[in-house]
Amino acid sequence: MSSSLPVSDSLDPQVLESAAGLVHRSAAAPVLIVGEEGFYQARVAQLLVCGFLCLSPNEGTACGECRACKSLEHETCPDILRVAPEGAGGRIRLQQIVPVQNSSESSSGLPPIRSFLQAPPVIGRRKVVLMERVERLTPDSANALLRMIEEPPTHARFVMWTTQLSQMLPTVRSRCLLLPCRIVAPEEADDAWHLSGGSPELAEKLRAAPELREALNGFLEAVAAAKWREGLRLTDELGEIVSAVADAGLADAKNQRACQGALLQLLANGLMARAREGDSRALELAEAALRAHRLVDGNVRFEYAMDAMFLSGLRSSRALR
Ligand SMILES: [Zn+2]
Repeated sequence: MSSSLPVSDSLDPQVLESAAGLVHRSAAAPVLIVGEEGFYQARVAQLLVCGFLCLSPNEGTACGECRACKSLEHETCPDILRVAPEGAGGRIRLQQIVPVQNSSESSSGLPPIRSFLQAPPVIGRRKVVLMERVERLTPDSANALLRMIEEPPTHARFVMWTTQLSQMLPTVRSRCLLLPCRIVAPEEADDAWHLSGGSPELAEKLRAAPELREALNGFLEAVAAAKWREGLRLTDELGEIVSAVADAGLADAKNQRACQGALLQLLANGLMARAREGDSRALELAEAALRAHRLVDGNVRFEYAMDAMFLSGLRSSRALR
């Protein structure tokens, strides 16, 4: 983990200023970084972690030279603990927060937070707990965490991030300092930006995947040209684009549903961009695509969800004639 991470121009500079301001704070309330998927929460969290650990941060920015910064760079720093969802259910489990007797050890092999925080820092200015996707805490682990963040050791700092603030336990949320990640839209938005739904990280990935963009744009063109009646054939075409989504690194290739969901989200984003240009049918189709996304998430077969989407699209295009 480097202390000099590049952060995209699209991140609002005020976010970085606020983060830098937090580094010199003496109070230990956890910092909770929030924003939509792909809004650089993880990178902002890393900047904060570096600032907290650095022995001589300059205006909130890690120096990059001290022992703490060097150990972070070489990933040997003993004063940071990363806590992320684990296991089949993808949850942050109780044994990651506090020692639990007779339970299987955390699958990462890392100590629970309470044990990690017991001793003072070895190299860094602080000891830092970095918690990723903190909405994935189980109720038990959230309650255990709550007790810990109410009276943390003075050397402890918590940096957390989430893309789903609404799913967090309000008691945990209310004890955190919120740092929202805001994005400045580019002056000239390209198709990758439109397809990303305004997520700069996703837009970056799409720019590096011309084949996927071409396939998606081709599909959107076919829809715009009122070839919606061919929907059932288009279902097959979309099925082929699913693998391009995995190739572009937008979802885990082994998780077919995640790939299908990501594809539907891209389609909905592309349709929404057309709707903003005044295409009222595109808006209805975007809604149909989001409904299909929910169906796929709810374990309905992809082909069925697609057919349902095309049929509702067909109805709406008839209604407009
Ligand atoms: Zn430093």
